[in-house]
Amino acid sequence: MSEQPQSGTAQWFDLVQESIVVRDPDGCILAWNQTSAQLYGHAREQALGQNETELLGSQYPQPAGEIDAALRETGTWRGEVLRRDATGRELYIDLRCSLLRDATGAPLQVVETGRDLSEQRHTERALRHSEYRYRNLFQAMAASFWELDFSAVGAMLQRLRKAGVTDLRAHFAANPALVREMMRATRILDVNEETVTLFGLGDRSGLMDSVEPFWAESSNHTYAESVIAAVTGQPHYVSETRLRRIDGSEFDGLFTACFAPEAVGRGKLLIGVIDISERKQAYAELERSESRYRNLFQAMAVSFLQLESSGLNRLFEELRAQGVTDLHAYIDQHPEFLKKAMDASIVIDVNERSLKLLGAKDRSELLGPVTQFWIPGQYEAFRGSIEAGFRREAGFQAETRKRTVDGREIDVLFFVTAPPDMRDRGIVLVGNIDISEQVAARSALRQMQAELAHAGRVTMLGELTASIAHEVNQPLAAITTNGEAGLRWLGRAVPDVDEARTLMQRIIADARRAAEIISRIRAMSLRRAPEPAPLALNALVQEAVQFLQHELQAQHAQLRLRLAPVLPVVQGDRVQLQQVIVNLVVNALQAMAHAGSPQRELQIETRLNADGEIELVVLDSGPGIPEEHQGRLFESFFSTKPNGMGLGLPVCRSIIEAHSGRISAGNREGGGARFAMVLPGPDGA
Ligand code: ADP
Repeated sequence: MSEQPQSGTAQWFDLVQESIVVRDPDGCILAWNQTSAQLYGHAREQALGQNETELLGSQYPQPAGEIDAALRETGTWRGEVLRRDATGRELYIDLRCSLLRDATGAPLQVVETGRDLSEQRHTERALRHSEYRYRNLFQAMAASFWELDFSAVGAMLQRLRKAGVTDLRAHFAANPALVREMMRATRILDVNEETVTLFGLGDRSGLMDSVEPFWAESSNHTYAESVIAAVTGQPHYVSETRLRRIDGSEFDGLFTACFAPEAVGRGKLLIGVIDISERKQAYAELERSESRYRNLFQAMAVSFLQLESSGLNRLFEELRAQGVTDLHAYIDQHPEFLKKAMDASIVIDVNERSLKLLGAKDRSELLGPVTQFWIPGQYEAFRGSIEAGFRREAGFQAETRKRTVDGREIDVLFFVTAPPDMRDRGIVLVGNIDISEQVAARSALRQMQAELAHAGRVTMLGELTASIAHEVNQPLAAITTNGEAGLRWLGRAVPDVDEARTLMQRIIADARRAAEIISRIRAMSLRRAPEPAPLALNALVQEAVQFLQHELQAQHAQLRLRLAPVLPVVQGDRVQLQQVIVNLVVNALQAMAHAGSPQRELQIETRLNADGEIELVVLDSGPGIPEEHQGRLFESFFSTKPNGMGLGLPVCRSIIEAHSGRISAGNREGGGARFAMVLPGPDGA
């Protein structure tokens, strides 16, 4: 069995601060001091007699045979051995072994002293790990990194200080050559892959050993500032600067230097460079287009308002979420939406010209919801604009009246520009071109035309009267003569009934002649014979509506078309049939205007009726036709209007009858007049 050292030595043996283990040449533990028990966590009683390698799980840096050989040869061995304590913790032990021999020189015992290096090794390992992580980062970052040695720069700075330079900034500014020299003195230790790419190096070996070639001449200032930041103890320095690729081309970089105190102490520096040329270009482009836009916005001789329309976008989204696809139909059902949409369209900027046009003394008067510019009840143009927006159309334009902030009403050409991407970002541009003068001129022109037409009609009426007078005079004179003669025959003592009968027959014949003359004159007012051609009635309606657009707007009438999706063609005269539609619509507008109807609604319908005939119906929301006038409307010269001629409807009837059709007038349910014309279908129904 093993034995502890003699009692005399036992005391010092346990007092030694190093672990001491004595083993035989086969590894059996013979002695185990107190420090060993503490270090390895095994009490002396547990350790004695055990095989040391097994107990401590020792891993030697060399094979056991080599260590034994070294011991036999030199008597000592030293190495770092990895062991585990009783809890399994890894221990790094600096182990020194000495061989004791017996009298014959044969190996007797090995004395081992061990020093624990674990703490140191664990720290080193952690350090290596973080170093490894750092290298990964260094390589993987999408930024260019440089590890630099600037110790030579430090020495230069010290020389400057000794030479009495106190204001480094001024000194550098005055000596650009010195700054370049400092650059040349800054050595490159390492760079990452991104640097190779960014600076156009073939590979790392293409690297110059100083940073000088990579700094554009215009960047001296940035470099000097970074040096000043380092010597004044700043933790880091960041600046945009011009850098140079290996081929001499320059680019904009964001330069970052990090002055970690301990690295700086060793004369080392890590800098990062990010290529911002694209960002800079995009920014410059943005600035340019922004300033172009601002110039345009301000300088235009047209009033421009910039609207913030995210609120409106949100309203649209809500509607879409509810499944609304046709905003026009939705507004028909919910007219209050218009007001909401106005309140959600906010003016955030206006140009100079808008102040004048909209009567503002100050920009601020024009800012806020657009509601203040719209005249209640005259929302058609606004409605059109948001309906176009809902359909994601890029623009809209309409003539309309607007209200100025100083209380006037002006005629403007109102236009909205909002390409979809702009609209998505809540930006809408509104322009207003003052057309009051044009509108005034146009309405004066219309007035003149109307008067001219009136004069024309009067002339025509005059001519008609003359010809009527002339033509009808003869039969009338004959009727009078015959009537008088008849009376005489009947006034005799013995009335001559036969003569009177003959005269009566003449009177009837003359009256017929007069009626014929009148119908000939009416036919004359058609001026020409119909020129039949195949026509699409719906297209005809659309054309007529186009033609009447302005009248409809001027009267603030809402037009609703309910056209049959499919209709057979009709044989007819385009101009004459259009004249009928226009006549009916104008009559309807006049009736509504005359009655002062607040809600002016006009509806035009087309359909194929049950008899295979083609029907066109014009409905209005006016006063309708009084009982006593029914049946008289189509009489020539019947009119209830002060300037009416009473020829419109008779002409309509002549035209329709010439097309083998019929026309009728009546009242619609719930008020308003209803005029219906029926034309034969394709099979002549
Ligand atoms: P004018 O328009 O010159 O009066 P028309 O023959 O076109 O001649 O119309 C005759 C009359 O029929 C009108 O004066 C008016 O009283 C009546 N009338 C026509 N259309 C309508 C309508 N839509 N609503 C009410 N009355 C109408």
